[in-house]
Amino acid sequence: MASKKPVESSMDTIISLSKRRGFIYPSSEIYGGFAGIYDLGPMGVELANNIKTQWWNVMVRRRKDIVGLDSAIFMHPKIWVASGHVAGFSDPLIECKDCHARSRADKLLEEIGIQADEKMSEDEINKLLHDNKDRIVCPSCGKKNFTEAKKFNLLVKSNLGDFSSEGKEPAYLRGETCQGIYVNYKNIIDTMHVKVPFGIAQIGKAFRNEIAPRQFVFRCREFEQMEMQYFLRPENEMSEYDKLKEYRFNALVELGLKKENIRWKKHENLVFYAKAAYDIEYKFPFGWDELEGVHARGNYDLTQHSMHSGEKLDYFDQEKGERYTPHIIESSGGVGRLVLAMLVDSYNEEEVNGETRVVLRLPRKIAPVKVAILPLSKKDELTAPSEKIFDTLKDRFSCVYDETQSIGKRYRRQDEIGTPYCVTFDFDSLKDDAVTVRDRDTMTQDRVKIADFPAYLEENLK
Ligand code: ATP
Repeated sequence: MASKKPVESSMDTIISLSKRRGFIYPSSEIYGGFAGIYDLGPMGVELANNIKTQWWNVMVRRRKDIVGLDSAIFMHPKIWVASGHVAGFSDPLIECKDCHARSRADKLLEEIGIQADEKMSEDEINKLLHDNKDRIVCPSCGKKNFTEAKKFNLLVKSNLGDFSSEGKEPAYLRGETCQGIYVNYKNIIDTMHVKVPFGIAQIGKAFRNEIAPRQFVFRCREFEQMEMQYFLRPENEMSEYDKLKEYRFNALVELGLKKENIRWKKHENLVFYAKAAYDIEYKFPFGWDELEGVHARGNYDLTQHSMHSGEKLDYFDQEKGERYTPHIIESSGGVGRLVLAMLVDSYNEEEVNGETRVVLRLPRKIAPVKVAILPLSKKDELTAPSEKIFDTLKDRFSCVYDETQSIGKRYRRQDEIGTPYCVTFDFDSLKDDAVTVRDRDTMTQDRVKIADFPAYLEENLK
C-alpha cells in the first residue's frame, strides 16, 4: 500500500514542517522576526531535551572519568581577554556597496571553492577577494561590488553591573561554554577528588554576533552548546584525542544519524597552540557542514587563565611526584545543529493510497511524543476510557491525547511529529478491553489488551 522512495528534503520543506508541527518558530514573529534567533515550540523543546539527555548520558553518566557542570552565562570580563576572544574572536565582514547586505568574506570565498577561514588576517582575505573579484557575488542582490574585508568581533556586549557608561571592559554574554569549564578546573580538582585524565562537561547557551546568520538554526546569534573538556598528561594528548574522535563519531551513530550522512573534515589551518582539529560534518540540504568539532588544544587555556588570574592551574601527580599543566582535548557541538540534522535525517515522504504521507522516522528514544491516545470519536463512552489510558501512561511515557478531527488526519499529524505509536480506542474496545496500536514506520496495526499495553510500549520503545 505504501511505496517508499527516499525523498531528499530541502531546507524549505524542513523549515515549513518545523513551523507547522511546532518544532521551531522564528523568534518575535509577530514583530517581524529577529535575525538569527529562534524559539523551540512544544515538539522542538521535547526533541532538544531528548537529544541533550542522550548526550549527557554518553558524556557524563556513562563515564567514571567525566563530571558535569552548569556555569553561569556571565563571567568576569577578564576571562574573555585571557581566552583571546577580545583580541581575536572575529570573522571577516564585507559589505555590498549596492544593497548594503553584509556577508562573511571567508564563506563567500569557500562557496567558490577557495580555501579560506576566519583565522586568516585581513590582508590574506583581501588578497583572495581581490584575486577572485569577478567570481564573488552578493548573495542578496547578485552584484560584485564589495567593500574591503574588515575583522568584526563576535562577542556580544552587555552593561551588566555597569551603571557609569564609562567604557570599561563590558560584561560579555559568553561566546562559548567551555570558558566556564576552564575557570572551574581548580574547583573541580579541589572538591571532586578527580585524577588526571578527567573531563568536565556542560550544556548551555552561547551568544555570537554572527555577521550573516543563515540556514535556519544552523547559524544563529543565540544557540546552545554541548561541550566536554578532557584534561590529560601532555604525552597522552594525541592517543586520547584519537579515542575521543572515535567516541564522538560512534555516539552520533548510536543516537541514530545515518552513517552515510556524517564524515570527518580536517582543519587545514590550525591556531598556533592547537595540535589537531577535526570537525564531524553532516550532509545538510545546503551541503556538508560542521555539526561538531573535536580539537586538541595543548595547554593554552589553563596557561592563559593562570597567567591572567594569577592562580596556579596545574596538577600534582602524587604517584609520580610531578607537577605539570594538563593539556586539553575537547568535544564541542551545537544542540540546534543536531536538532536540524535529526529532522533532515528522519524526514520521509511516501505514497500511501494515492496520497503523500510525510513521516519523521525519528529514533524512538528521541521522538518528542512516544504515544498518542486517540478515541475513535468524541463520544463520551470513548473519550472517558481513552483519558484513563492517558492517565495510566503519562508518568512513564511522553504522551498526547487528541480527539480532534478524523482518525486519518490525526494519524498523519502524529506521523509528521514522529510519534512511534498511535493507540485508538474504538467501540470494540468497550467489549474486548483492547486497543488498536498503529506503528509509525510500518503502519501495521496490532490489537493489544489495555492491561498489557504499558509492557508492550516498554518492550517496543527499547
Ligand atoms: P562555524 O565554523 O560553523 O562558525 P565554529 O567552528 O566557530 O563554527 P565552534 O566555535 O567550534 O564553532 O563551536 C562548537 C559548535 O557550536 C559548532 O560545531 C556548532 O555545532 C555550534 N555553533 C557554533 N556557532 C554556532 C552558531 N552561530 N549557531 C549555531 N550553532 C553554532
